[in-house]
Amino acid sequence: MSRYWSALVHDLSPYTPGEQPRIANLIKLNTNESPLAPSPAVLAAIAGEATEALRLYPDPAATALREALATYHGLSADQVFVGNGSDEVLAHAFAGLLKHDAPLLYPDITYSFYPVWAQLFGVATEAVPLDADFRVRIADYRRPAGAIILPNPNAPTGTPLALAEIEALLRDHPAIPVVIDEAYVDFGAETAVPLIAAHPNLLVVRTFSKSRALAGLRVGYALGHRDLIEALTRVKDSFNSYPLGRPAQAGAIASVQDDAAFQAGLASIVATRGRMTAGLEALGFQVLPSAANFVFARHPAHGGADLAAALRGRAILVRRFNAPRIADHLRITVGTDGQTEALLSALAEILAA
Ligand SMILES: *Cc1c(COP(=O)(O)O)cnc(C)c1O
Repeated sequence: MSRYWSALVHDLSPYTPGEQPRIANLIKLNTNESPLAPSPAVLAAIAGEATEALRLYPDPAATALREALATYHGLSADQVFVGNGSDEVLAHAFAGLLKHDAPLLYPDITYSFYPVWAQLFGVATEAVPLDADFRVRIADYRRPAGAIILPNPNAPTGTPLALAEIEALLRDHPAIPVVIDEAYVDFGAETAVPLIAAHPNLLVVRTFSKSRALAGLRVGYALGHRDLIEALTRVKDSFNSYPLGRPAQAGAIASVQDDAAFQAGLASIVATRGRMTAGLEALGFQVLPSAANFVFARHPAHGGADLAAALRGRAILVRRFNAPRIADHLRITVGTDGQTEALLSALAEILAA
């Protein structure tokens, strides 16, 4: 605390990102990064930007990237917004679309950055409890609201909503903005992008950080009606006109255009997720059905804090949330097959001890 702080800063409770420690031979399964390298085409595109042209500002509108994403999703470029990671895109949505007199609804167990942005931007919120199976129940959202935000699949649970359920949510709420955060959708959930044409209140937010193995590049985007995109652009141009540098724009374009590498990476992670789930269940863990690149699991006989600490002692990092109902769960990123074997044998040792 300091007397130089503004009242705003004084009252913030910031998000705590997963640790990025420097430990030798660390098995890092705590922040849902991809275990795979970005495709060679992406790395070449990024390297190709290391030229004297870096003295010039990048395209503030990232036109070529927005056009590539529009083509990929069957939309027009004015239906695409890009930002410095989807965290920035989501923050702009909180400022530009989600602040109304009635509260913003989101699940009680969800991406823990949502309440942080709500506080930063003074957005009134109401948390809607997940059901006993840790699922989002659309019927529970039939209540007065100023806006709604949901991840699909949800985080940190990994459980997906069917497209018909998202459609029902949109039918229930035609007059308020609905944001679907699809950070993990590529790993097995249904995208809401086909609903954009009929629902001008729907904003779909995506990231290159997880399924595209580019967390270090910081690229995220939103898709929706051009009026929603204009709201985000107005906020962006009141904050930072150049959120994406030249290497980020070029690397992201190359990723969108290298669909073969993208699909192969997804298939390999989904296969490893199956092996990891089976291995955890064989050790007695209860694992929620996951459509993401992580699983959410608890052991009926062992506390989450103890398990996470014992894994850390073996240089394996997983994520635990010290929050009601989930304090004994571990969120474990799907790594390589080798990392998964190391995780399972470490857990076998810990449970036997
Ligand atoms: C990882 C994540 C994001 C943010 O990703 P960026 O790296 O900022 O693009 C957004 N929403 C959810 C639910 C996430 O898990």
